[in-house]
Order: sequence, then C-alpha cells, then structure tokens
Amino acid sequence: MAATNELIRLEPVFHEMIWGGRRLADTFGYEIPDGPIGECWAISAHPHGDCRVTGGRFDGMLLSELWEEHRDEVFPGATGDRFPLLIKIIDAASDLSIQVHPDDAYAAEHENGSLGKRECWYILDCDEGATIIVGQNARSREEFAQMVEEGRWSELLHEVPIRRGDFFQIDAGTVHAIKGGTLILEVQQSSDITYRVYDYDRPGKDGKPRELHLAQSLDVIDYGAAAPASGAVSAPEVDGVTVLEANGIYTVERVRVDGAAVLANENPFLCLSVIDGSGTVAGQTVAKGAHLIVPAVLREVELAGEMELIASHV
Ligand code: ZN
Repeated sequence: MAATNELIRLEPVFHEMIWGGRRLADTFGYEIPDGPIGECWAISAHPHGDCRVTGGRFDGMLLSELWEEHRDEVFPGATGDRFPLLIKIIDAASDLSIQVHPDDAYAAEHENGSLGKRECWYILDCDEGATIIVGQNARSREEFAQMVEEGRWSELLHEVPIRRGDFFQIDAGTVHAIKGGTLILEVQQSSDITYRVYDYDRPGKDGKPRELHLAQSLDVIDYGAAAPASGAVSAPEVDGVTVLEANGIYTVERVRVDGAAVLANENPFLCLSVIDGSGTVAGQTVAKGAHLIVPAVLREVELAGEMELIASHV
C-alpha cells in the first residue's frame, strides 16, 4: 500500500508501581486501573507495553506491528529492528529506586542484545521543594563501592532541586532517581534494562525488598561524568520551538503554540505529546494527554490552538 499521511493515535499502556500515584487520572484524565499507577507508556512498541493504534486505517494494530509489517507506509526510510523510542509519563508519588542504565555496547553483550538506555526528563509538574538525583560524587569504582557499603547515600548522590519546565538529559552510566511529588514526561531509548543501586531498604509488592544489581551498576557507572547544577532550560525559543536535547539517538523539543504554527518533519517519523492545552494537529482535534505519531509523508505539520507539546524523533 502507498505511504500514509494519516496521524497515528495511540492508546497508552499503564503500569502499576509501588511508588506510583493517581495523577495520571487526576491531571491527565486517563482512565487508569485501580492502585498506585506510576507509568503511562504513551508511545511504545516495547514488548513490556506495546501501544495500540486507535482510529484510522491501522485501528487496533500494535505499534510493533506497524513497525514490522507496515514500515514502508508509515515510516519509509526508517531503519532498525525495533521502534527506537519509548515515551512515558511518570507519576512518582514516592521516590523511585536509585538506578543506572547500561549503554548499547554493554546491553548488547550482557542483556541478550537489548538496547542500552539513554533517557531524558521534562518536568511537567512537581511539589514545592521537590528534588531529583542526577549524578554521583564518587570518582572511581572503589570509592563508589565503599560509600555504598558504608551507607553514605546523601554524600554519594548528587541531588538537584527541580521546578516545572526543567529538563534533564540522563546518559547511560549516570546514577539517577526521580523523587516523590514529581510528574515527568520521559523520552528514552526503547529499552527496559535498569540496574538498581539502592531501594531505600523498602519492601516491594510481595513484601520482600526488590532485587539490587550492584555488580552491574559498578560496571556501567561513568565515574568521570559531570553532574548538572540545575535543569533550567537555557536554549532559545525560536518560533515557539525550544530544542531541549539533540544527541546521536534522539532529538527532543518543546513546542508552544499560540494561534498557528508549522512544524517541519524531516525524519522517518515525529512523535508528538500534548502536555497542556488543546488545538489541532494537521486538522485533527487534540487535547492534553494525546500522543500521536506523524508519519514521514507529512513534511509540514500544521498546528493550531493554545497548547504545549513535546516533539521527539530519531
Ligand atoms: Zn532510569
């Protein structure tokens, strides 16, 4: 079939987490299951949460099926054995474990050919005085291991105050944790490989502490990386667009629409997440909480209304 110019709308997949809350319903209006719901996988073809298309020619199909069986129609020119990005909204009512992710090379060797994981966080909302952990103060494997053994967590971990609208790039090898009272949009490589360094000695769902992965963590931590002092965005806004991050794997932008705007799409696809307000994307009505994929054929995306979006692409 010919390449499509239809927007691909996706149904989120929700995950219960011991640290989750109810803000995905309260703030985003999603119909979520009972219990502490921590993650909304909004654009994902990962086997742990594969999103379904809603409406249009591909109605009911999984995003992984579009990637595998309809690539020439939706993502002409895209390469790779899996849809490369995973976009989530995270509601952290309490602290997430202190963790670190491997890079592609380590994951390929030690995790069955999985991708490594780079991720980035856009702070959608947070409590007064909220913080996160990005980076660590140990400068060698030995120093890190010793501080862990002695439980010197506050000395070891680099904690940063956060505000709404902050942005953090988390490279593979960076120790990090989202802390309670934070609502985040996360763009990451499509990987689910997490090495848990510390979980505050708290019980998991079954009452036992969750597994830690200190040996792997010590292998993958980048002891030379500089930790950020804040997540304040300093990039300029040009025609409503602020580039938050551009690296070899993904580009993430904040797009503010006040009236009408046109967004260029020069990629095999463009992921759009509406994080505030409402309007139209290529003539279709959207509102806060909508997640879409713009196919490659649509080179110029017309936006109208009063809204804020996060745009991401490879
Ligand atoms: Zn992480």
